[in-house]
Amino acid sequence: MVRPTKYLFITGGVVSSLGKGIVAASLARLLQSRGFRVTIQKFDPYINLDPGTLNPYEHGEVYVTEDGAETDLDLGHYERFLDQPTSQANNVTTGRVYETVIRRERMGEYGGRTVQVVPHITDEIKRRICLLGETGNYDIVLTEIGGTVGDIESLPFIEAARQLHYERGRGESLFIHLTLLPYITVTGELKTKPTQHSVKQLLELGVQPDILVCRTEHRLSSEIKSKIALFCNVPVDSVIEARDAETIYDVPLKLMREGLDEAVLRRLGLAPTPEPDMDAWRDFLKRLKNPLDEVNVGLVGKYVELPDAYKSILESFVHAAAANEAKVNVTLIHSEDVQEENVERYLAPLDGVVVAPGFGKRGVQGKLIAIQYCRTRRLPFLGICLGMQMACIEFGRNVLGLSRCNSTEFDASTPDPVISLMEDQLEVTQIGGTLRLGNWTCDIRSGTLAERIYGTSRVVERHRHRYEFNNRYRETFEAAGLVLSGINPDNNLVEIVELPGHPFFIATQYHPEYRSTVMRPHPLFVAFVAAMIRHRRHQEAQQSGDDSR
Ligand code: GLN
Repeated sequence: MVRPTKYLFITGGVVSSLGKGIVAASLARLLQSRGFRVTIQKFDPYINLDPGTLNPYEHGEVYVTEDGAETDLDLGHYERFLDQPTSQANNVTTGRVYETVIRRERMGEYGGRTVQVVPHITDEIKRRICLLGETGNYDIVLTEIGGTVGDIESLPFIEAARQLHYERGRGESLFIHLTLLPYITVTGELKTKPTQHSVKQLLELGVQPDILVCRTEHRLSSEIKSKIALFCNVPVDSVIEARDAETIYDVPLKLMREGLDEAVLRRLGLAPTPEPDMDAWRDFLKRLKNPLDEVNVGLVGKYVELPDAYKSILESFVHAAAANEAKVNVTLIHSEDVQEENVERYLAPLDGVVVAPGFGKRGVQGKLIAIQYCRTRRLPFLGICLGMQMACIEFGRNVLGLSRCNSTEFDASTPDPVISLMEDQLEVTQIGGTLRLGNWTCDIRSGTLAERIYGTSRVVERHRHRYEFNNRYRETFEAAGLVLSGINPDNNLVEIVELPGHPFFIATQYHPEYRSTVMRPHPLFVAFVAAMIRHRRHQEAQQSGDDSR
């Protein structure tokens, strides 16, 4: 018998940034490890159709799915924890919900009735919640409701979840509420009042949470748990401690010890089930926490004030570090700070540099200087998207002598548009959703570093950019020694460039970081970290040689 999909709603209370995404991803991972087919979706209460047009300072990185959706960075966590792809259906904003409803209204589909938040907006939200379940691909769908309970914006989402919970009946869905227990240092106490208040707020909306996950810096005593249980109408075994963790990848095991997944399954009528198989996960953590080497990588970008802007890159380094049994320390370097005079000071202590993706002219000069340093000083280098474009411009200027070559993104009248727009992008005026997005195939030339890294001749990687390497310059660049080692077979565009003879110099037009997961670290990052380890050992060997002389 096919069991209907069960739904878990995850709400947040007290304050934002409690890590709902990590809790959702961790719980999903535990359920998946018990053999359930699981996915997670996120509702974002803002009016933008997607985060694609948002400045990274607003909500951090834009995460891109295989199907080319520009989504919230929590989807990155979902994929990294579950090791399975998400899609547009996994991220829905208020804007998208309203867009659909308004389009229907224009088509006359509401038969002359007044279109309202309840039932029309809430119906559309419910439709989108059930969309994933209706594919038949999942036993359990986790729905993370963005924002904090009490926000005006998230009301329709909570109302829709409440209706669905009621309509589906007992045991078919449940509410998990994430709260904060602040610690008062002076009295040495954890305070439950904010949690009580936020549960009260949920109750006012008609929702009784089934499980409370409590973020805390300290252990929750059984007295505190009982107190929370009593005031918030939940059984004591459904008050789950979520203590601050050393790494986000500890969270699944911590929540498992607290019995979160068991509590969920019991309440959904799915217990008992086999214990979660977390051996591979534990093995990853063991490698991560017992490094044999240590390297320092510089991430040159312009959004360094907000590391969330580079979330997937930072996480890819964690995965690759564990794969190499190394500790990778990432130093964020502001590209606007890097100049000819100080580049040595910034980069000499490092074992490698990654030049980050980005849009717009600000900070590109610093990226060029950093790349030139890596190329000439034989420092391992990885360029991503804009990082690849800048590597081509650097090569054009400093190796080929095309002193004014540029991307038309930064200089529309450059005599040498080494990076430029494709015909199909010339007419584009709308900025949202018009980049080259999502999966594209890349053929890898044999005998190259790219081939050694991937160990295959064809890969599929995710994209998010508008500008391309200009094919008019292919021959000139190749003749001067830049190897175009990856080409998109569908549109003949350059995907990977590399420099043979350099210890590790490779850059990609696509974003490898979107595909790295705990269980499958991305080969490019793994190889880059390995190259940095080699660099470090080489430096140390030289140093001790110098010392003994
Ligand atoms: N701004 C560049 C482009 O649009 C690079 C984008 C990126 O790095 N994601 O092509």
